[in-house]
Amino acid sequence: MARENLNPFDIAQHYFQLAADRLQIDFGMQDVLRTPKRCLTVSIPVRMDDGTYKVFIGYRVAHNMARGPAKGGIRFHPDVNLDEVKALASWMTWKCSCLDLPFGGGKGGVKVDPRTLSKGELERLTRRYTSEILPLIGPEQDIPAPDVYTDSQIMAWIMDTYSMTKGATALGVVTGKPVALGGSKGRDRATARGVQFTLREACRERKMKLKGATVAIQGYGNAGSHVAELLHEEGARIVAATDSKGGVHQPKGLDPKALAAHKKKGASLKTFKGGTPVTNSQLLELPVDILVPAALENQITGANASKVQAKIVAEAANGPTTPLADDILFKRGRTVIPDILANAGGVTVSYFEWVQDSYTFFWDEDEVDRRLEVYMRRAYQASSETAKKHHCSLRGGAYVLAVQRVLEATQVRGIFP
Ligand code: NAD
Repeated sequence: MARENLNPFDIAQHYFQLAADRLQIDFGMQDVLRTPKRCLTVSIPVRMDDGTYKVFIGYRVAHNMARGPAKGGIRFHPDVNLDEVKALASWMTWKCSCLDLPFGGGKGGVKVDPRTLSKGELERLTRRYTSEILPLIGPEQDIPAPDVYTDSQIMAWIMDTYSMTKGATALGVVTGKPVALGGSKGRDRATARGVQFTLREACRERKMKLKGATVAIQGYGNAGSHVAELLHEEGARIVAATDSKGGVHQPKGLDPKALAAHKKKGASLKTFKGGTPVTNSQLLELPVDILVPAALENQITGANASKVQAKIVAEAANGPTTPLADDILFKRGRTVIPDILANAGGVTVSYFEWVQDSYTFFWDEDEVDRRLEVYMRRAYQASSETAKKHHCSLRGGAYVLAVQRVLEATQVRGIFP
């Protein structure tokens, strides 16, 4: 078999192209929708603690702003490059549109390994990066959020740098902030809640019960561990979980809180007592009802998709299933809840944070969850109906829905001038 193309930019373009073909969008308009609105590359000089200077390279891309300000995270990682940032920004356009949020898509990143920086160096890097991208960001223009290796502290520095420069406190310039600084309650578990709500819909469609269903979870970080806890509370049985080193399988069921406590001690799930060891690739092929990839991209591929036994795959991670694997799973009658839908709880609560910031009126966690459920359920049902109409997978339906909304907004606005 030929090697699969795993380039994130090519995969993002592939799904857009399928949707554009289904919608019979003409070539010129396809180009308008496909091409990023703007890409900024900046150099970020930083004074290091030892008195020397280092220059880092950063990016901010706004892929599309037809439906509202660009929205998307900032990644600090040594592998960051413009192609990746462009791909991630376009994914955000389709994710926000699929959820019917009044946002476009954006993404940013700095090529750096933040684990090698002191806290002071990290703060100076963040503030200088913010000042370099400052002409582009703003509560009504482009709203960053956390992504890989960035957190609520970094968002607080971005908010402060922006506010100091503008001379007024601007809570809504970033989301994912600490609750003390206009962050939203419920943001920590929002991605997992979204996975839970879409799983309820998928189970309903397949006439399966979530209560008592068996679940395997790959990746036990923010997304995976919260999914495990929420599904366990709902009566599902978590029978396997892994982290980067491997994990544990126990058909009788595992206690998610005990797994989290084990991880908190700095240990891998591979050493968790009370089951048999399982590798990351074995976990994907276990006889379970529900599989939740919550770690990395390209885990379910053409090589293992025919061995996946789960009836439902809920993509908590971004891009865990390759296009070839997606086709295989669809033909085998499995439901794949695609990333742009399954893990959109995070960006949806980011939207709620932005709304609360602009009103400076804050909701309690129950209210956040209640509203999130409405958005997730609506997006699932609309994607599913679109999939049926176009005789395609749920991913195909979610993309058609998302691309169609951006197309409509672009057409009614018209192309300036
Ligand atoms: P995280 O860093 O908190 O956790 C990642 C987990 O994956 C860790 O347990 C790590 O040990 C594990 N892991 C790393 N390599 C692995 C491998 N090869 N096999 C199995 N496990 C491995 O990250 P997170 O925030 O939970 O994000 C996980 C995924 O979910 C990413 O794809 C991310 O883009 C996506 N996501 C997260 C959020 C969010 O709000 N956290 C929102 C949307 C999408």
